[in-house]
Amino acid sequence: MDHFIYRDSELHAEGVPLSRIAREVGTPVYVYSSGTFEGHLAAFDRAFAPVPHLVCYSVKVASNLALLAKVAKLGLGADIVSGGELFRALRAGVQAGKIVYSGVGKTPAEIKEALAAGILAFNVESGPELAAVSQIARDMGKKAPVAFRVNPDVDPGTHPYVATGLKESKFGVPVDEAFGLYLRAKDDPAIEIVGIDCHIGSQLTSVAPFVDTVARLRALIARLREAGIAISHIDLGGGLGITYLDETPPSPAEYAQSVIGALAGEKATLIFEPGRVVAGNAGVLVVQVLYDKITPGKRFLVTDGAMNDLIRPSLYGSHHGIVPVARGQAAPVTVNVVGPVCESGDFLAKDRPIPPVPQGGYLAVKSAGAYGFSMSSNYNSRPRAAEVLVEGDSYRVIRARETREDLIRGETL
Ligand SMILES: *Cc1c(COP(=O)(O)O)cnc(C)c1O
Repeated sequence: MDHFIYRDSELHAEGVPLSRIAREVGTPVYVYSSGTFEGHLAAFDRAFAPVPHLVCYSVKVASNLALLAKVAKLGLGADIVSGGELFRALRAGVQAGKIVYSGVGKTPAEIKEALAAGILAFNVESGPELAAVSQIARDMGKKAPVAFRVNPDVDPGTHPYVATGLKESKFGVPVDEAFGLYLRAKDDPAIEIVGIDCHIGSQLTSVAPFVDTVARLRALIARLREAGIAISHIDLGGGLGITYLDETPPSPAEYAQSVIGALAGEKATLIFEPGRVVAGNAGVLVVQVLYDKITPGKRFLVTDGAMNDLIRPSLYGSHHGIVPVARGQAAPVTVNVVGPVCESGDFLAKDRPIPPVPQGGYLAVKSAGAYGFSMSSNYNSRPRAAEVLVEGDSYRVIRARETREDLIRGETL
């Protein structure tokens, strides 16, 4: 479900024509639909209404303060992977007690910050990290709330760069090692064991890997129980996929039904860290056509949006629907949609049939809300795009387009 629809041949975000935003704010511009973003959050939350649960939105997916403020307003939590994300989440009003902190490389400074803030849990990903968290907590006279991120060695059937629960992965600890870490933590006065955690990958399009994961977690939880270790929450991470092209991922309701079924009998609170399923189809990237360049081998639509704005096609070979903002009658032509960046890997789409768009016309790159702006960079000294949030019939700029001065901030001659 999303709120990007044609009205009178003009693509709108909710009640606002994208061409109006493009003219007034300039391009490239990320446009988010508030209704879609909040609707997805609410749908995910509602799906788990039958059981005690907490939805912790994955901040790295789309991190703008205005989006995080929506998360906070709904009373939801956040999954963070850096001190920078902690800063953002707190600034946006997310309660510290609803923040879980994942990642294999938390620095001592970041651990201190998170302990001082009073987060819900550190998702600890190695023995050395447990030692660091423990030492820092002791120094601060605090008890650190810890869950171990278990690597269940389950194949999520997704792109290798976003598969995180295979035994070759840098993430989490194998089940047997996790058991040992729980025993160590149990005897550590600076550690409070609060839960068990996992996150097996992203853009999953079936429930089977989640169900397999739950079975492996339950086996470990049973062993822990025998060892006198109780956990108060089970965090299943994020990973639910979305439709970019023709994928048919389970809906949050179907996902919830499977997971709740697989966990029947467990008393712990369930935690989820959804990202893509919330933000992915809640945002588009609007770009302007600069040139229609026809070479002997290919036809290129050169746009002012590039791989530095949206790296997913270049990085993962991923598909994003691309549609004209003003819909015409003409038959599609097959083009490569590319940007100005000096890399042959700079493309938004290859060999894609798209209805002709005149020079100066706008294209909407769909499903760009997740891992879009948040992965953007200044490569080729390109200022990062503006971000706009549409709410009904109005819109506001939630991140100003970067300026030339922003490009050189902090540099010296
Ligand atoms: C990236 C990430 C998520 C979000 O994954 P999605 O596939 O976008 O839902 C959740 N948890 C952790 C630990 C992550 O790194």
